[in-house]
Amino acid sequence: MPAHSITFYAFLFRSLLRDRQNSLQAIQSYRDRSLRTLLHHARRDVPFQRERLANIDLNQISLGQIPPTTKTAMMESFNQTISRGVVAFDDVLATEDEHRLELPIIHGKYLAVKSSGTSGKPGWMVIGLRDWAILRGATLGRLARNWLTPGRVAMSFVRPLRTATLAAEHSHSMTWQSSRSAEMWAGPFVQVRFFPVVNAVERIVAGLNDYKPEYLHAYPTAAEMLARYRLDGGNFTFEPELLSVGSEALTAMARQAIEQAFPKTRLVDHYGMSECLPLSTECEHGRKHLNTDYAILEAVDADDRPVADGELSDHVLVTNLVNHVQPFIRYRVDDSVRISHKPCPCGSVFPTVEVHSRKGSQIHLRNDQGIWQMLSPPIVVDTMLRTIGVAQFQVIHVLQNELIVKFIPLKEFAIEDVAASIRKSFANVLCRLACGNSVKVTVERVDAFQRTEGGGKLLQTISLVAPPAASRRAA
Ligand SMILES: [Zn+2]
Repeated sequence: MPAHSITFYAFLFRSLLRDRQNSLQAIQSYRDRSLRTLLHHARRDVPFQRERLANIDLNQISLGQIPPTTKTAMMESFNQTISRGVVAFDDVLATEDEHRLELPIIHGKYLAVKSSGTSGKPGWMVIGLRDWAILRGATLGRLARNWLTPGRVAMSFVRPLRTATLAAEHSHSMTWQSSRSAEMWAGPFVQVRFFPVVNAVERIVAGLNDYKPEYLHAYPTAAEMLARYRLDGGNFTFEPELLSVGSEALTAMARQAIEQAFPKTRLVDHYGMSECLPLSTECEHGRKHLNTDYAILEAVDADDRPVADGELSDHVLVTNLVNHVQPFIRYRVDDSVRISHKPCPCGSVFPTVEVHSRKGSQIHLRNDQGIWQMLSPPIVVDTMLRTIGVAQFQVIHVLQNELIVKFIPLKEFAIEDVAASIRKSFANVLCRLACGNSVKVTVERVDAFQRTEGGGKLLQTISLVAPPAASRRAA
């Protein structure tokens, strides 16, 4: 068994056990140890962090003393954010090849991840493969906390558990990387299969019917699409025991449709981010518990001061306790959240978080056969990640089946080349969604974007069109 498989399983079971052990004290002392180790290491080996951490007393850590940082600041000094310069930004860019579908591994040890980010600007991140195995194992342990019973674990020795992911197929997307690495590390006890979300829904369902996954992970909009297809009479010969969703907000309407279409399935919503995968996991009471042993989430006001328990934050500061190659410490993310320390009926001692994401709206398109297809924010992001020369973008659904893609080009690119690249990328995705002949796309260069209220995030998708009646029906 490869070394990373052992790490993956070790942390999967550790995260399961710590969750059940239910000792707040044990979790806090584990977290404090991890934080101290991270800060020590960051001050010693990471030039970008050295200055930020210069005056911190590591025996008496108070996070509030460390100035927050942002994606822009980290991207501008990318090489200084890496421990001992083991990876340079040029190494990261060299992994970019939209035709290659394999894990972008640098020097055999480090994984490159590209995130759309919530600001509309792409961001890059590097993580060591061992830390990645820890994060994957820990996240899966929490997501599957009620599903991975001793009986089911024993069963996997006889017959592998069947898991599937339905998401964008892109070598730099963390969801795809999660599936690919599980394929490498989880065998022979777990079988893993990936279904590209941009295929037509009939084809996706046919594939899932054939494979019959016991555990399915999908974007909420993709899960909603399956649910509506089933509610509309589509033929399903499987129902997953566990369905986890993540990467975008799960709306109340989507949750209702999914629960109605798959009544036997346990639905788990996951709030995380590329910079910090295992941030939280939803329990059976529908509350998201913060995984404070792997990550620290601070809810703060516009001036980065902590808000009171139960108050809505302006944004959050995230600290990833596992990634040592490129530490993220008090890293600003523009999600508005409410953290509560009130006990949850599930008995978990982890605090809960309510997330008010501002990523954008779903776009419902009628495809060439007249069937509703969803162009969700992560699909839009994936489409834009395949273009060249885009600094920022926004996709607006102005009239039914009419899209405007607004963009700001990077300085070194000709506007016409960028526009052509966007057109090509949208033509590809619309063709795969069977919308190639029925959707009009206009590409428009702009000088600036309007922000959401409070100077918050740039919405990546905006729909000015009411959702179809079929989508409202189940609500
Ligand atoms: Zn709970």
